[in-house]
Amino acid sequence: MSLVCFPFKEEDVSVVVRNIECAASHPSIAGVLCVGFSKGETWHAIESAKSAIEQSTGKSVILLQQRRIGTSLRGGKGDGMNTALVYFLDNTEYHRLHFYDADIVSFSASWISKAEKQADLDYDVVRHYFPRSSTDAMITWLVTKIGFALLWPNSILPAIEQPLGGELLVSRKAAEILIADQRVRDQSDWGIDTLYTFVMAQAGLRMAEVYVPEGKVHALYGGLQDLRTMLVECFAAIQSLRNEVIVTESRYRIENPRPVPEAVKQKIGYNIEKTLKLLKSNWSPRQKELLQEYFDPALANGMLHAIEWPCWSFADEEAWISAYQKFLDHFEKGDFDWEELLFKIWVARVLNHTMKNVIRGYDAALGALRDLIWETQHNAAIQL
Ligand code: GDP
Repeated sequence: MSLVCFPFKEEDVSVVVRNIECAASHPSIAGVLCVGFSKGETWHAIESAKSAIEQSTGKSVILLQQRRIGTSLRGGKGDGMNTALVYFLDNTEYHRLHFYDADIVSFSASWISKAEKQADLDYDVVRHYFPRSSTDAMITWLVTKIGFALLWPNSILPAIEQPLGGELLVSRKAAEILIADQRVRDQSDWGIDTLYTFVMAQAGLRMAEVYVPEGKVHALYGGLQDLRTMLVECFAAIQSLRNEVIVTESRYRIENPRPVPEAVKQKIGYNIEKTLKLLKSNWSPRQKELLQEYFDPALANGMLHAIEWPCWSFADEEAWISAYQKFLDHFEKGDFDWEELLFKIWVARVLNHTMKNVIRGYDAALGALRDLIWETQHNAAIQL
């Protein structure tokens, strides 16, 4: 029997409670662990619903506040997920641990069944992947997948469809490997998904990805501003790993995707109008100096023009790969000017993708993203 963990902060309580009930009702699940950032409104709603769910399903619902496991980085989702790993390892009656974001409106029992069935075939890790809008997942595509392709082109990492996904199953073996790793315990922020995925590959765990055709419907972003912290923490996580090597081979399989639903194809993942303003915001003289000192002149000049009037044509695929390598060498997390430069250049890249690729339709946009990963991986591999 398995344990399901929902890490949560503040979310729509009716969605969270429904998801807990759904997980607890599943025949393969013996307990549902809810790990909260703090004792806010969502916490109290779960506390009130807990005993009714336990009675109706006959399963345990455990409510825990996350522990401070990391010491140096911001205490966030990483501490939440690591708290769940520790609980799971201490409670040996559970054989597998599932993680799901608490805010998923489209969550259903079939997500659990799919992961369980795949794990029966002796995989240590089963990850869910979803059809995504062509403007969604811009950190996954432009930061994580590009970083994996540049740094470990011959590993399985660039092939993983959604390496930042919060929906996954781990075996006891995988959980033990993860929590024994100091780098994982330290990664208490949004970088946790990167660390889990990286360590799984480095340890040679058997990994599978299963496809959830209905997609992940969850709370949407406003402008890209909402993603700034996540962007910085996900990039810094990759940067912290840049000198690591992967020598093991993992067994890896991926379920074929199906046709993408029209609603997903038509969705715009972020507010473009709000985002345009970000290009001219928060500039300091030092940011302009760093831009001119470290980055290609065409990119630097383009960014400076964008202060006067929104423009993005300079932030093409090639410019991003070149800038990414400069960031890998020089970026300093916690330094406001470096963080702002990373954020604004990424914003320009996302706008360029939107206006150049997304405008040509869903298939062209996804094709451009896939080509970028493939080209980057190929170029990095032949230079090794
Ligand atoms: P996104 O799906 O990547 O945009 O991330 P979300 O903001 O939806 O967060 C994913 C899940 O993690 C949700 O269930 C959040 O409530 C939860 N979450 C976010 N931050 C924290 C945190 O600091 N601690 C815990 N325990 N959960 C968090």
